[in-house]
Amino acid sequence: MLIDMINFNVPPFTGKEIEYVTEAIHAHRISGDGEFTKKCSAWLEDRFKAQKALLTTSGTTALDMAMLLCGLKPGDEVILSSYTFSSTATSVILAGATPVFVDIRPDTMNIDENRIEEAVTDRTRAIAVTHYAGVSCEMDRINGIAKKHGLRVVEDAAQGVMSSYKGRALGTIGDFGCYSFHETKNFSMGEGGAIIINDKAFNEAAEILREKGTNRSKFFRGEIDKYTWVDFGDSYLPSEMNAAYLWAQLEKADEISSDRMNNWNRYYDRLLPLKDKGRLELPVIPDGCIHNAHMFYVKCRDLEERTRFITYMKGRGVYCVFHYVPLHSAPAGRKYGRMHGEDVYTTSESERLVRLPMYYGLKAEDTDYICGAIYEFFGENG
Ligand SMILES: *Cc1c(COP(=O)(O)O)cnc(C)c1O
Repeated sequence: MLIDMINFNVPPFTGKEIEYVTEAIHAHRISGDGEFTKKCSAWLEDRFKAQKALLTTSGTTALDMAMLLCGLKPGDEVILSSYTFSSTATSVILAGATPVFVDIRPDTMNIDENRIEEAVTDRTRAIAVTHYAGVSCEMDRINGIAKKHGLRVVEDAAQGVMSSYKGRALGTIGDFGCYSFHETKNFSMGEGGAIIINDKAFNEAAEILREKGTNRSKFFRGEIDKYTWVDFGDSYLPSEMNAAYLWAQLEKADEISSDRMNNWNRYYDRLLPLKDKGRLELPVIPDGCIHNAHMFYVKCRDLEERTRFITYMKGRGVYCVFHYVPLHSAPAGRKYGRMHGEDVYTTSESERLVRLPMYYGLKAEDTDYICGAIYEFFGENG
């Protein structure tokens, strides 16, 4: 039988994108902060009860902004998980500080909140938490440590748009939250992101930083009669074409989410008997966490089995991928940062994890086909 390959990811497309992008072009306003950008940021603020949302050119530049707003200086340290995307660490380096990596919890693959406090030194200024797979870190505990030691909390919620922790949207719980709208994320604008600012004392500094060091945002609101260069800055505004694409996605956010969630639950239910037989492990969602079905992964026994799994699935027409070589042992991690404490889980758990296809529009029959192939790989009847 000839089979079509099942992709690992397909960028989200709802149907209105082309109309909205065309509208932005015809409005002769294609640079940043036009109507579509305003609609998107207002939606984020409304939906997530966020004090302020600013669109950025990527999740990475949202993190860059957050770290720069933390006011880090050379010699300062930022604590983060070793199991995250490189951007979480590069933003720390851009701001002049040193990333200090700590181990993860094996259940959620998130930073181990019990290992954070022992990594705090008199140079620590911030904790950057990554909500892996859109499942929240233990934020009450982390905010408590931050408060006790006077640290900022930056949430890398790149994967966590539409997720929550004890009723609060991810990205709105620390000082700053960073979203990604890359094509691999739940909602996309090609390349893009947003920073959520939870303390309004940072609003003006954020606008200046984002607008090349000028107070142009104030000028556009009519609060001053001319604008000028007032501080250090960079350029983090996405174009209106990108924002128009994103608007088509946010309008359908609930539909996209429930479609992903159906597939996530289908995977989970179908694979649960394999977990009960001890053949593989499934994601864990702690109490109080509502996730956004960003990712579905399973864990094999070890690296050797995972390698065979990926090859087997490819032979069955299914692309499965793994990710995150632990940052502390990556070449740049060794050059720029350091690990605090032991690597008990980061390396061993990351070597077992494999992600299954997950995207808006993935067909239920494809999910079933994938689960069937997994049963065959393990030599079990499903
Ligand atoms: C995707 C991602 C980023 C980077 O987002 P971009 O928009 O691609 O720059 C950062 N951190 C995590 C955890 C991510 O998954």
